[in-house]
Amino acid sequence: MDLYEYQARDVFEKHGVPVLKGLTATTPAEAKQAAEQIGSPVVVVKAQVKTGGRGKAGGVKVAKSPEEAEQKAAEILGMDIKGHEVRTVMIAEGADIAEEYYFSILLDRANRSYLAMCSKEGGMEIEQLAVERPEALARVPVDPNVGIDDAKATEIVTAAGFEGEDAAKIAEVLKTLWTVYNEEDATLVEVNPLVKTGAGDIVALDGKVTLDENADFRQESHAEFEDAAAADPLEAKAKALHLNYVKLDGNVGIIGNGAGLVMSTLDVVAYAGEDYTGGVAKPANFLDIGGGASAEVMANGLDVILGDEQVKSVFVNVFGGITACDAVANGIVGALKTLGDDATKPLVVRLDGNNVEEGRQILADFNHPLVSIEETMDGAAKKAAELAAK
Ligand code: GDP
Ligand code: MN
Repeated sequence: MDLYEYQARDVFEKHGVPVLKGLTATTPAEAKQAAEQIGSPVVVVKAQVKTGGRGKAGGVKVAKSPEEAEQKAAEILGMDIKGHEVRTVMIAEGADIAEEYYFSILLDRANRSYLAMCSKEGGMEIEQLAVERPEALARVPVDPNVGIDDAKATEIVTAAGFEGEDAAKIAEVLKTLWTVYNEEDATLVEVNPLVKTGAGDIVALDGKVTLDENADFRQESHAEFEDAAAADPLEAKAKALHLNYVKLDGNVGIIGNGAGLVMSTLDVVAYAGEDYTGGVAKPANFLDIGGGASAEVMANGLDVILGDEQVKSVFVNVFGGITACDAVANGIVGALKTLGDDATKPLVVRLDGNNVEEGRQILADFNHPLVSIEETMDGAAKKAAELAAK
């Protein structure tokens, strides 16, 4: 889960990372009030959207009075930044920026480690810097069991080329950012820019934090970050049903057991859509119902998928392993009985693996007008694509 900048600011503050005052507003009038409350001669009005490059898109504007903050908020609220509508702005205390640096900690999957990145040249174009002058961006591996202690912080700031008093001050801030990363179970903490003010203080001016949802069970406070307004209603429903569902922009609903099988089902349906329907048929979702595949889970999964107005057909692709095909077939039968008249779209079922004959027989005996059985994954993908394109 990605946090909004204002949420990242609050988390930073909680762990002692130096930040400036910031308040959110959803109307220009609220923005004016917030600017008055902050009370600094300069405030910055910042679009709160979960995408980078707000500055370049005109979503970060300086205001020299509460009236001006109101005016800038009116310009920014409602703006579209890379497909994200701005519904909230943060009114931040203005900073007297002398220099802009970059710092991040992230999960380095390829090396099974964490990676810290740091540069003297922060600001807006860090991706460009990484490509054009990689030597200006220090990359230092961080051992997850040790983290960023004094020695590691010194190593990072030295690798980035900081010296003297700056190096010591920045190293202190990096240790607090490590606390955020570690204690909040983050997979990304990025500060761009990390600034040095005219007075020589180091301040985190813009923060990007990604939290690991697998740690939600031990991070009760993270529930408040969930963004119900921005979430897809089908994804929200699936989440409430504990389903592993991702909405996509197509018309062939997909249910499978096991993430790998579902991923390859998406590919096969996409290819079949290209080959047989001129690209009309496309996968509508990812849904992994996992090992159990009980009637209840199958019914919940079908219910979510059939609730997607774009869906024209459904492909149920199951490989019977620990859960045998007859159990899955009974799950499908139970689900269709539960759904009754709510099941309105054709279902193409491909079963294979453990007890496949028994499973196919159960579906044949059930003889539901919407269900067709296919022997192969390719055959089923073709059939589901053709039904969706009809
Ligand atoms: P981003 O473009 O989405 O990464 O948004 P940032 O919050 O990083 O802001 C972009 C740029 O706006 C920063 O690199 C700064 O140059 C500038 N900026 C942001 N806050 C302030 C501020 O308080 N004072 C001044 N003078 N500039 C700011
Ligand atoms: Mn930034």
